[in-house]
Amino acid sequence: MKTADFCRDFAQTLVNWFLQYGRDYPWRRTTDPWAILVSEVMLQQTTIPTVLARYEAWMQRYPTPSHLAQASEQDALLSWEGLGYYRRVRALQAAARAVCEQYAGVFPQSESKLRALPGIGDYTAAAVLSFAYNKPAPLVDANVARVLARIYNDPTPIDSTAGRKNMAQRAAVLVHRSNPRAYNSALMELGQSICIPGRPNCLICPVRPFCHAQHPEILPVKAAKRQITTMEHWDIWQLTPHGLLMEQQPTTARHAGMYRLPRRPRELAQSLPHICDQTYAITRYKVTRHLHRARGDMSPQNAEQYIPIDRLESIPMASPDRKLVLKLLTELPEQTHLDEAKKQKKLSGR
Ligand code: SF4
Repeated sequence: MKTADFCRDFAQTLVNWFLQYGRDYPWRRTTDPWAILVSEVMLQQTTIPTVLARYEAWMQRYPTPSHLAQASEQDALLSWEGLGYYRRVRALQAAARAVCEQYAGVFPQSESKLRALPGIGDYTAAAVLSFAYNKPAPLVDANVARVLARIYNDPTPIDSTAGRKNMAQRAAVLVHRSNPRAYNSALMELGQSICIPGRPNCLICPVRPFCHAQHPEILPVKAAKRQITTMEHWDIWQLTPHGLLMEQQPTTARHAGMYRLPRRPRELAQSLPHICDQTYAITRYKVTRHLHRARGDMSPQNAEQYIPIDRLESIPMASPDRKLVLKLLTELPEQTHLDEAKKQKKLSGR
């Protein structure tokens, strides 16, 4: 089959399959570039079920770029809790502000103007162009790279320069010219549901006649295995009638603007009573937090402040921090003491 015929027939077969079997997601029912952008940013590094549980409520709260542009950073971070990777919401807010300031709240339709917005790279710009404006912009995410490596039976590592170049070129020649919106969704969905990692379901694959994979289970090839780095830190727990001692992270930190339990040098923390350890994973890090009970005479340091317990819900925290704080507030005996102290205060009329 000639290349042009192969591309046309492959794309059309995939589109036909998608129009019949494609899943119904809220972001597939809209052509609003803002709604598309939000879904794409949420779906980066967050699973579809988690995004599905949060997307519509989030869109109701911030239905246009202007709504997010006008929100405080603290509110934006708080609304993102549970989705992780908080840099994304800061970049989304920066993009919303740029669209409002430079384009009166209307998204541009050119790739270069989209790419110039904060936090928008090749992939996200192509997603907005194809899903919102139905432009034939080729998309390559992890699912698409896997499908294309198998279709072309290509052993070039997909995370190498040559592999990325191959994928970009193939995605560009294959993209459906008249229905790129459905085609890009179809290609991604094929990778999510049929051409899955490991052993794909080739028997029910709509593009099986076009596929050259000999041993699809070993494709795609990846060059570098990511090393897991272990990290440890020592935090303190200081709950007083003024509230829980928390630290707001500086603008240079990974979780800028968010709150966490205050951190102390290992030697100092280890001289205090140990409460518990918490272990969790973030990207390539395995983190262990050792939590120690502060002494009453430890005064707050820079950026540390007491947050009244009834205000803890309104400050942004990363999920592991929020989980730990909630667990300890429920389990630790000093909570009972605090409740008792509050009652006494009320009774004495002070
Ligand atoms: S035939 Fe199998 S390996 Fe080829 S694209 Fe379909 S599911 Fe993937």
